Order: sequence, then C-alpha cells, then structure tokens
Amino acid sequence: MEKQQQFVLRSLEERDIRFVRLWFTDVLGFLKSVAVAPAELENAFSEGIGFDGSAIEGFARVYEADMLAKPDPTTFQVLPWRGGSNGTARMFCDILMPDGSPSYADPRHVLKRALGRAAEQGFTFYTHPEVEFFVFKNQPTGGEEPIPVDASGFFDHTAHGIAQDFRRDTITMLEDMGISVEFSHHEGAPGQQEIDLRYADALATADNLMTFRAVVREVALSQDLYASFMPKPFTAWPGSGMHTHVSLFEGDRNVFHEPGAEYQLSKVARSFIAGLLRHAPEITAVTNQWVNSYKRLRGGGEAPAYICWGHNNRSALVRVPMYKPDKGQSARIEFRSLDSACNPYLAYAIILAAGLKGIEEGYELPPGAEDDVWALTDRERRAMGIDPLPASLDEAIQAMENSELVAETLGEHVFEFFLRNKRSEWNEYSLQVTAFERAKMLPVM
Ligand code: GLU
Ligand code: MG
Ligand code: MG
Repeated sequence: MEKQQQFVLRSLEERDIRFVRLWFTDVLGFLKSVAVAPAELENAFSEGIGFDGSAIEGFARVYEADMLAKPDPTTFQVLPWRGGSNGTARMFCDILMPDGSPSYADPRHVLKRALGRAAEQGFTFYTHPEVEFFVFKNQPTGGEEPIPVDASGFFDHTAHGIAQDFRRDTITMLEDMGISVEFSHHEGAPGQQEIDLRYADALATADNLMTFRAVVREVALSQDLYASFMPKPFTAWPGSGMHTHVSLFEGDRNVFHEPGAEYQLSKVARSFIAGLLRHAPEITAVTNQWVNSYKRLRGGGEAPAYICWGHNNRSALVRVPMYKPDKGQSARIEFRSLDSACNPYLAYAIILAAGLKGIEEGYELPPGAEDDVWALTDRERRAMGIDPLPASLDEAIQAMENSELVAETLGEHVFEFFLRNKRSEWNEYSLQVTAFERAKMLPVM
C-alpha cells in the first residue's frame, strides 16, 4: 500500500474519525458525497466503492450505471465543522468504470486529461481564482429578491461588520483544511464578498474550489445566513465573477515571463492569450454555464462582454496585470469571464486547452485594447475587430456545438450530455412568461 494511503489509515485512528466522506463532482459542478465507515477504506483504496452512477447528473446512461469511487489519499482532510471526537473526514475521488478504467464522465478526469496533455509539452498549469459570492440574511425561496447581509460596497471597512466576521471564520476554516487564502474584501454590491485563493496547480485549485463552496455555505448556515454563488442575483448590482489568474511553468520557470518584452510577456504567453480570444465564443458555455450567467456578462459591473485583451484594462476579457520586473515568477494573465457557478474542473480544462491550442498553432496576438471597451460604440468596436462574447446561453450553446476543441477536451460523453442539458435549460427558460413582461405589458396592452 502506498505511503499516502497508510498515512490516511493511521490518521483515521489517531484523530478518532467515525465517517469518511467520499467527494466527487457531477458534470454541472455540484458536489456529491457518500459516507463510508473507516473499515471500508482499505477496500476503497484498492478497488473503489461501488455506487449507482445513474443517480448523478451527467454520469451514466441507465444501462451502464455501476461506477466506482476511488479516493485520492493526497486530498484527505478532517472537516472542521465535524471535528472533535467521532469526527468526519473527506477525500476527493476519481470515478472509475467497473473494469477500473477512468470514467469518461468524471469532470476531475477531464481536467487530469487536459493537464496530461500540457505535461507532454513540459508545462504545469497554475491557477489563482478570485471568488465572488453573496451573503444574504435569508434563504430565498419562490423567486423573491434576497436580503443582503450588509449595505457596504467595494473594499468598505465597517466596524464589527457581520461580513467581516463571516470572512474571518471562513478563512480560518479554509486554512484548517490546508487551503491558503491570499486576499479577501468586500465586493461592489451589498452583501457581496470576495476571497482569493493562493496559486496552486489547476487540479488542486479545482478541488479547493469545491471545498471552498462547501465551507462558505457551512459558515453561512452556522451564522443563520445564506451564501450563494449565483452569477447575477440582482438586476441592479454587479454579479459574482470568478476571475482566474493563470500561468504556465516549465519546471521552476514561469514561461509567461520574458524580461525586456512588451509588458514582459513572452511569445508563449501571447499565443496563449490569442488562443483564449480566438476560441472564446465556443468555450463560453463551459465557463458561463447558466441562463443567469449571461445577465452578469451583459450587465456591466466590470464583467467582460467583449473579446479583447488589455494591459490593466478591467473591461477586457483577458487582463495582463502589472508585476515588478524582479518578480518574474508572478507573470500571469487574468481570464475574467468565468463565474462563480461554473464547474471548475471543466472550466480550467477548457481554458488550458484553448491557450495550448494558441501555442501549438502559433496564433498571433491581435493589438490590445487600452480603452474601456464598454464605453465604445458598436461601430467603434467593430472597427477595432472586437467581437462580443455570446449574449445568451442559447448563443453560447450554438458556438459550442460546432467546436472540435471543446468536444475533444470534454470528451464525447460530457460534450453531448452538457449540450443536451443546456439546451433543455434554455428551452425551459425561454418559455417562461416573466414578472418583467407582465409589469411592462399588462398596464398598456
Ligand atoms: N463582479 C465583477 C464581475 O462580475 C468583477 C469585479 C472586479 O473587478 O473584481 O466580474
Ligand atoms: Mg472582484
Ligand atoms: Mg479580478
């Protein structure tokens, strides 16, 4: 048995663990969990725990429902909100087919496959997400507007603010679980928070984001609050993005960094950005997977709606942040369309694939946009060659349907399931007669 597995088995005894939750993620990015007794774990490590995959969104067709969850011992952590005696721990799992091969429907596997392709070219993919979300006083039901926990705004400091305590408790709990936090602050809308996770390789980041969402919800509930990662809960306020800073390393060397080049951006970084821009329309259904995601993208509030890049330009889809010349290792680019309700495994796999495509094909980077692209007219944007991102889930699905890049990266099963699921979400949505229409039309027609 591997060292890591032995370490887990020893920890179970030493830390008095009564339940081990096996965690995995469905295609839409929802966390799934099955609890097993510690005595089952040796078997789980060697063969995996069987479960009925047809119960899980996107996993199996009914006639091939048996699947196995095999825990990854490097992800073992005790859940701080279930600590003490008779505690509960968790591990993320890889999902296997009954014959032991990786499940083509497992988002974690989709990301591992994409990272494997990068590794063949000598690259490690690092990510640093800025996660925005809302905290409400109430758990909203029936479609009414939720009540934000505070009335503060961007970077506001409020003495004894509820949100401040909330962020402190959340960060402490994340750090108890081995997840380092770099920054946190109040975001632009009432009740809106941001917590930024430290750089890690993309698989660790995706696992960390799933944990992050669980922790934020737990802390909120423990304070009689309710947290939500919905992309755009309010018409009048900005939505919740999950801007992600990315870079490629070769061994210890950040290959996005080139001293003396414009913005110190290497050729590799420029082609990576060009890949993101060229493939932006077809990957947007994955980075922004809900009907509601497009209300954020189109709603201003520093969310990107146009396909362009810029140096320190916060209206651009890709922003190249400034860094000190002697800090070459921190060279990175920020991809800004992602929202906090994406599936992080699929989203990171697709961003990496688009960037690598740019490198492989040697795409040229178009000129950067230094203006606020929101403030330009359509004509001005067209003259500059700046296209809009898909304006709705419908447009995004249409762009994805014809994409070889997305089909290859997600694999046929996830690609087909995802499209089917999203088409049906769009159809259901487009048939709704809304309060907006009644308010506008009934009084005058
Ligand atoms: N909330 C904005 C968004 O939806 C981002 C604000 C910021 O620049 O951090 O992308
Ligand atoms: Mg922010
Ligand atoms: Mg940002």
